[in-house]
Amino acid sequence: MGDSFKTLCPYCGVGCGLEVSPPAESGKGVSRDEEGTPVWRVRGDRAHPSSEGMVCVKGATIAESLHKSRLLHPMMRDSLDEPFRQVSWDEALNCIVARIQTVRFTQGADAICMYGSGQFQTQDYYVAQKLLKGCLGTNNFDANSRLCMSSAVAGYTQSFGTDGPPCCYEDLDLTDCAFLIGTNTAECHPIIFNRFRKNHKKNHNVKLIVVDPRCTETAQVADLHLAIKPGTDIDLLNGIAHILMRDGHIETLFMDECTQGFNDYAQVISHYDPEIVAQTCGISVSDLEKAAQYWAKSQRVLSLWSMGINQSSEGTAKVRTLINLHLMTAQIGKPGAGPFSLTGQPNAMGGREAGGLSHILPGYRLVKNPVHRAEVEELWGLPPGRISAKPGLTVWDMILGLETGDVGFVWISATNPVVSMPDLERTKAALLRSPFTVYQDAYYPTETAEFAHVLLPAAQWSEKTGMMTNSERRVTLCPQFRQPPGEARPDWEVFAEVGRRLGFADRFKFTDAAQVFAEFTEFTRDRPCDQTGITYERLSQEGPLQWPCSDKNIHSPDETSRLYTDLHFNTPDGRARFAAYHSRGLAEPPDPNYPFVLTVGRLYGHWHTQTRTGRIAKIQKMHPAPFIEVHPRDAKTVGIADGEWVEVRSRRGKLRLPAVVTKNIAPGTVFVPMHWGALWADDAEANVLTHAEACPDSKQPELKACAVQLVPLKTAAVQSTSTDSQMELTVLKTPS
Ligand code: SF4
Repeated sequence: MGDSFKTLCPYCGVGCGLEVSPPAESGKGVSRDEEGTPVWRVRGDRAHPSSEGMVCVKGATIAESLHKSRLLHPMMRDSLDEPFRQVSWDEALNCIVARIQTVRFTQGADAICMYGSGQFQTQDYYVAQKLLKGCLGTNNFDANSRLCMSSAVAGYTQSFGTDGPPCCYEDLDLTDCAFLIGTNTAECHPIIFNRFRKNHKKNHNVKLIVVDPRCTETAQVADLHLAIKPGTDIDLLNGIAHILMRDGHIETLFMDECTQGFNDYAQVISHYDPEIVAQTCGISVSDLEKAAQYWAKSQRVLSLWSMGINQSSEGTAKVRTLINLHLMTAQIGKPGAGPFSLTGQPNAMGGREAGGLSHILPGYRLVKNPVHRAEVEELWGLPPGRISAKPGLTVWDMILGLETGDVGFVWISATNPVVSMPDLERTKAALLRSPFTVYQDAYYPTETAEFAHVLLPAAQWSEKTGMMTNSERRVTLCPQFRQPPGEARPDWEVFAEVGRRLGFADRFKFTDAAQVFAEFTEFTRDRPCDQTGITYERLSQEGPLQWPCSDKNIHSPDETSRLYTDLHFNTPDGRARFAAYHSRGLAEPPDPNYPFVLTVGRLYGHWHTQTRTGRIAKIQKMHPAPFIEVHPRDAKTVGIADGEWVEVRSRRGKLRLPAVVTKNIAPGTVFVPMHWGALWADDAEANVLTHAEACPDSKQPELKACAVQLVPLKTAAVQSTSTDSQMELTVLKTPS
């Protein structure tokens, strides 16, 4: 591919390398979308160490989404019932600055909020932190990573002393036993799964254990599928620990020298008799014993998890209970082993490093830690005490603040909360009350744009330069290789411009993304996520680099690919911490009125709320419409057949969906994909049903489970079409 550029796929946290080249003008090489527009050619970057040339359908078709349904100009309106009018950047920014100043003066800085995204590049995250937490003095910056992996952050921090996934993708090639819990890796992180499957297929002694109430594509190739009842993960993990201890498969020397808290944990797991655990989880005792045996007999055990563990009212407890298994068996700090969280978004990891959640600061620092605040203040040249000691509002707290009037200004960027937030009707009602909402995004229309007073057009991946870190701590340079459409600008430039107009001109002198990154990496100096050895120049010359990567000593790949190889953790005494948790179960368990547990999830082709993938014909054909999976036994009880429509009701709202009757879902559980917002189908927003009960530590809502009832509709589906601004979408409508 001549004139090609190397970059990173901007979808999921696997972070596959892509090689892109301009559209051929004519001839055989020309590649066009379904409308005949020539599009950039994309293929996997064989030299990228994370993905070795592999891509899934999303990465392969990314170029087709770049020019469709774009927001081209700043737009404004005085109230939500007025149409938008096009304005200049100057007018929009002056209005935003005036509003921030008014709210700061009348309500205080804590009435100002920003809600960002794992789609941000590290530069966007970093400049937003400097603006909000540093200059304005409020920690009210949260990101959609709160809904995705904040339980993993809390779990790592509490068990190991700081955040940071200890493993790398090479561990997929080296492990003897992959323990996948709460992750449909084959569909949601397909390239990681492919990499493990090569090892699994080649070596018959390598085991795959999958824990999931659904028999997903991941579970279908498992050596052992444990279809546990939703909310019984801690029972299962404690049950496995009970067996490992009973049979003497524990590493006492490692625990004595490198951990703390085992005695309390041993007390807890003594209560998890296998008979009781199997019954609680809805699995056989022999399967439970087999899982413990696979773990015990493997030299190297790698556990992988994502939303099924994180999106829970006991998410941190689940993460820590899983880590406990690694600690009691010394399955950490060596090739092929360790607890490995998979991130949903392309740069959720970079966000964590840059302090992109309301309780953290750049460089894996905590808002609550006075030393950390002082370090950041010094680096930002701020007076002592400028950074608030109070953790900021999480995104759900922002919704509550809109309800009470405590929040007077909301800036949403690169995310679509009007589809992805829990308890969606309540979320929408709160946003309708917002005195002033800025929405900055690459795409228009989106569901969230309907709730904005100001729209700002964002340049996206390919139209701006920035860095992103993938799940294995590997930082990739994503260069600009196209011009942004219309007047779109990079997010970080917009935040910096607002900072300058607010009177902080000296702090936002950046002229390019390399300068922003260089300033950010100083915050990682001597921190566990040290990136001082990573520069724009090195990334462009050497390709992706993994942290820790200090400028003081050049690490060999062996030293950076895994954390804790010296068995020294980031706690004050260097020991990892056991956690002793009993299972609390679901926040909203089923009952006679709402007898089913709804679980939500993703499909192979679609990405989140379809702002990109909904506009790609190939992916639309793959997943044309929403549905609900129901077990045949439940379908019979309710009185529905395959393909018939069913009303799904929770205490908060209802949907209407065609039923897919399948044994792939456990009895008592139903599944709805979360990709469909109001723009793409009627009555199909999964999060209308979900609730906002959250983990007390990570504040991550339990999006994965709520109680529902099913009511058959017994009417036929009709097809109709609806038109958005730039293309015709086939929308599956329910009968009125
Ligand atoms: Fe992109 Fe994730 Fe697919 Fe890789 S696995 S190509 S990062 S969506």
